[in-house]
Amino acid sequence: MGLLDKLFGGEDGPAAQSYSHVRIHPSVDNGVTPATPGFSGGTLSCKCSSNPVVVAVSAQTAHNHVCGCTKCWKPEGAIFAQIAVVGRDQVEVTENADKLEIVDASAAIQRHACKGCGVHMYGRIENTGHPFHGLDFVHTELSSQSGWSPAEFAAFVSSIIESGVDPSRMDEIRGRLRELGLEPYDCLSPPLMDVIATHVAKQSGALK
Ligand SMILES: [Zn+2]
Ligand SMILES: [Zn+2]
Repeated sequence: MGLLDKLFGGEDGPAAQSYSHVRIHPSVDNGVTPATPGFSGGTLSCKCSSNPVVVAVSAQTAHNHVCGCTKCWKPEGAIFAQIAVVGRDQVEVTENADKLEIVDASAAIQRHACKGCGVHMYGRIENTGHPFHGLDFVHTELSSQSGWSPAEFAAFVSSIIESGVDPSRMDEIRGRLRELGLEPYDCLSPPLMDVIATHVAKQSGALK
């Protein structure tokens, strides 16, 4: 096989690469399920077998994505978390609120975790000057209902290395994310980065 064939995949070049062996997160590994039109929320339960914490989310979520940062809660064995946002007024702890504690009170997002099983039930921003104030962060995989907004992109992809993922795996991991339609970004998606920058520009006066 000649060099050009090797580069551009001639007749006996490699078949189209499939990265389906790469695990990202259980909610997307078999493909991303679309939202159910008209879906209006459900309940999230922690992993405790008795007295689970239950959180009612009374609206559809938005901006769902897989996240590679080291702060988001991930299910056992997953290299990404999956996380969405919903208005804080739509989030209410309905059972066993006494089992919740804040993981890191100094963090911008205060993640309320179950003391029993460690699952993060919701993340809340108390700083009213924060660009995402008013939105809570939730893991809809904790719900037995289907119809939630699907993951749309992958955030903080390079950060999975900080959790111990071998850097040599990044090509196949980004390949798998693209195969799933989850464009990989090393920060947030462009629309969310634009929201943050617009907020900062309005605070500084650069934008009226
Ligand atoms: Zn629990
Ligand atoms: Zn994260």
